Amino acid sequence: MKTILDRNDLRLFLDTQLKEWPQAQTNYAAMGHCLQRQIEVDGEVIRLQFNPGRQRSTTADTSAIEIARRDCFLCAKHRPKTQKKRRLGSFDLLVNPFPVFEEHYTLAHVLHVEQRIKPHVRSFFRMLDRLPDLTLFYNGAQCGASAPDHAHFQACLWEQPEVPHRGSLIYQEGTTTLSEGVSSLRPAWLLEGCSSASMSQVLFSLLDFLSPNEEPNVNLLAWKRGERSYCLIFPRSRHRPEVYFRSDEGQRLVSPAAVEMGGFLVCSRQRDFEQLNAAEIREIYASVCWSTQKIQAHRIALQEHLRNSAHA
Ligand SMILES: [Zn+2]
Repeated sequence: MKTILDRNDLRLFLDTQLKEWPQAQTNYAAMGHCLQRQIEVDGEVIRLQFNPGRQRSTTADTSAIEIARRDCFLCAKHRPKTQKKRRLGSFDLLVNPFPVFEEHYTLAHVLHVEQRIKPHVRSFFRMLDRLPDLTLFYNGAQCGASAPDHAHFQACLWEQPEVPHRGSLIYQEGTTTLSEGVSSLRPAWLLEGCSSASMSQVLFSLLDFLSPNEEPNVNLLAWKRGERSYCLIFPRSRHRPEVYFRSDEGQRLVSPAAVEMGGFLVCSRQRDFEQLNAAEIREIYASVCWSTQKIQAHRIALQEHLRNSAHA
């Protein structure tokens, strides 16, 4: 029978780990005291978190050379002895020792296989069904994954909207719909429905449309409300914004990934947390996301691709 972990199961797992694992306990305690503030940008509320514990992740060198040189921290043989797991299908649920949320888990594939979304689309939605109280997310190998060589998702306690904003309907099949998101800051597609099998098919076709042979540059953010599942797909134009690479006062050490696409900017440096303003946030998103115009320009071709895929 398929294991489903509810809030209580997860809390018990996390609390037990925090008792046994001093490093995780320290980091979760520190995270609870992180400074936060919010800024309204073009009518959207963006939350900022000052989280020095995330510096390693924000500034991680994920070049092929560096990745080949280090021990993979998601492989069972390199994990700390105190890090326990809960097996869920082909993935191990682990407490993330560098949290952004008060409950933050990593789901590491049991094998050291590359971070690729297409082979794991079905597992992604199965995982959502197994963790119905959490928000599940995926960072593409080239847009935010700190271990691009080891397939993984993340899951956390993060309140998501009851009914997300929807734009133009692109595709419908039974209860499954794909529409354009309406955020102008973080343009996305919204996939929703009650059948994880059908949603998997549509997501796979969309990813195939974006990049038939390579790993597409996307971040995914998914959650459930009762029987209904929602998944935002953020197509990305680049990993780090131009301001990341500046060498003057205007430098901002922000590395947008799925969490940032969800409107939650993690700053590992206090200066960035204190100084970031609406204009800079707009520029950061514009630098790494597709524009609304680009999403709309692909509408007709995407519709055709999804229809052809469904009848293939
Ligand atoms: Zn590994």
